[in-house]
Amino acid sequence: MDFHPTRYYRCPSCEMITSYMAASSVNNYNSTLYSDGYESGMMIHDNQELIKCSKCKTFYWMNNENYIGQDYDKIIKKLACQEAPKASDLTIADIKKAIKDKVYTETSEEIYLRQLLWRSFNHRSRESKDLFCSKTDEKLYTDNCRFLIGLYNKNNNKQMHLIAELYRNIGNFDACKTILKTIPVLFPKEDSDDQKTIRELMFRECNKKNTLIIMVKNRGKMLTQSRKPKKTEKKVTLRPPLKYPKAEDFSELQYQHEEGRYDGEV
Ligand SMILES: [Zn+2]
Repeated sequence: MDFHPTRYYRCPSCEMITSYMAASSVNNYNSTLYSDGYESGMMIHDNQELIKCSKCKTFYWMNNENYIGQDYDKIIKKLACQEAPKASDLTIADIKKAIKDKVYTETSEEIYLRQLLWRSFNHRSRESKDLFCSKTDEKLYTDNCRFLIGLYNKNNNKQMHLIAELYRNIGNFDACKTILKTIPVLFPKEDSDDQKTIRELMFRECNKKNTLIIMVKNRGKMLTQSRKPKKTEKKVTLRPPLKYPKAEDFSELQYQHEEGRYDGEV
């Protein structure tokens, strides 16, 4: 994994300088992929896009407007700054406030924040902790999932997988399965073996009524029950492959998709 030189950003409200070192390249060797699309690994680094000013608590984007350069001497000495603290990770409370304050102006920025909130909650599951600490947590999580369902691009295979996962996360297993069945119809050319396996895993979790995220790929190997039996083992009969609808059946599917924006609180 490589990093860019440290970059400096200026708070538009109080002019406090914050530093950030973004990754320039990552490597997913031995990484773990989860059903919410989050990938973790020693060589993986998700670059942050929003800063919370440590002085005045204003949120601002790491864009050209707030970027002031990467020359430490010029910035720190000439501006007579005392310090340029590193940008801190955003907490669930931070992301919630940034969304409530509507710091975004573009749909892509809102998706970034809501996806970050969704995955930040799911980190608790990744760490084997309870997903919710309170009823407020649960409502925030569910409302945010519904917003994301409305925001993701329905013409994008990857985002359709995420929509299916969001439905599973909020307990709408029928909607999740319906979408999973439509994906190979909508995107037959993009339907790789990996995606088929992920879909089978998600189907299995729907049938178990599991709403929590699952690991779908680990250490470069797909997490699947399909493995060659050893010579001494009895042959295990595996579940037959899922039957997907044909293109002409697509209109027959009960598409329970919630189009447009979700009208929730946050
Ligand atoms: Zn500030």
